[in-house]
Amino acid sequence: MEYKIAIMPGDGIGKEISEGAVSVIKKIGKKYNHEFNINYADIGGVAIDNHGTPLPKETIEICKDSDGIILGAVGGPKWDHLKGEDRPEKGLLNIRKELGLYTNLRPAIVYEPLKNASPLKTEIIGEGLDICIVRELTGGIYFGEKGVREDGTAYDILSYNAEEIKRIAIKGFETAMKRDKKVTSVDKSNVLESSRLWRKTVIEISKDYPEVELNHMYVDNAAMQLLINPTQFDVILTMNMFGDILSDEASMITGSIGMLPSASIGEKYGLYEPIHGSAPDIAGQDIANPIATILSAAMMFKYSMGLVEEGVAIEKAVEKVLNDGMRTKDIYTDSTKLVGTKEMVSSIVENI
Ligand code: NAD
Repeated sequence: MEYKIAIMPGDGIGKEISEGAVSVIKKIGKKYNHEFNINYADIGGVAIDNHGTPLPKETIEICKDSDGIILGAVGGPKWDHLKGEDRPEKGLLNIRKELGLYTNLRPAIVYEPLKNASPLKTEIIGEGLDICIVRELTGGIYFGEKGVREDGTAYDILSYNAEEIKRIAIKGFETAMKRDKKVTSVDKSNVLESSRLWRKTVIEISKDYPEVELNHMYVDNAAMQLLINPTQFDVILTMNMFGDILSDEASMITGSIGMLPSASIGEKYGLYEPIHGSAPDIAGQDIANPIATILSAAMMFKYSMGLVEEGVAIEKAVEKVLNDGMRTKDIYTDSTKLVGTKEMVSSIVENI
């Protein structure tokens, strides 16, 4: 079959890690006899340099004309002086909005051979950890009215309507139905009005999913529980800002931010990206971990393109190289083999 894939490398390590994903995609094409037409598009800082805007129209068109979309990462010190709409990160926020990507799925899995790389004691991780954070992505405080008043006070408004909460809650329960059928809805309903609407709406939606166990947790407690008893969670359903913070926390439990993929999904499109940023501190040094981006490609095959076997083949190849002891610097421990970005990519490609 023939497919179109959009690749937006972005900034910093974005180019290195997305090239890793491209090598893997090409190998899948060869092995399974698919034709993948790859189109590159600028986003973030590189788009500001080349087009004067973090999200050129052409990039939106390329994405809308694709069967799957991969993003590296955006941002870096070169553009840190820019404000508001001109910042590289706006490219990312705006493409999510343009494509209607209101759901962010972030799996946090501790791979058996990486148990020692987790900062938590192995008895806390127990038999294994497999959490999926379902985060609302196009509403809440990041998209509310913001500004600085004449007296210098700065404000950001956090608001949600019931429709926005309903559609993400449905995604949360649907995700749980394919997993261990447990949803923990995280809010701050003891102090926030928007959280009270969140909780009420999630309870309403839960009535359509009687098989799923629902419980509620305040975000401060959830942050703590992730450290002391992370295996209690299956699906964590939460709003934009809380999900942003909790998913980074969950990612560190797994050992490295460089391991975790994510999917941003709407009714029509899906965008797949690592959860980490552009890591300007290590860019261009051949030390970035490409696995999060490669696993994002696996999610793209499974969720957007219906190529489940191909996605699983990538996941198996990643597990194989980890079992073989290959490690980039961020996950390296004694008695494992230190490899660079390129060698990690070529080993994964060989194992597909
Ligand atoms: P970051 O995720 O880029 O880096 C945090 C730390 O993790 C750094 O020490 C970095 O070296 C390390 N790291 C990240 N990815 C890694 C990988 N694949 N392999 C090995 N180590 C890795 O976050 P930051 O430093 O807060 O932000 C840097 C820039 O990225 C900023 O401009 C920020 O706005 C941007 N950012 C972009 C996104 C995105 O594009 N989705 C997300 C977060 C931050």
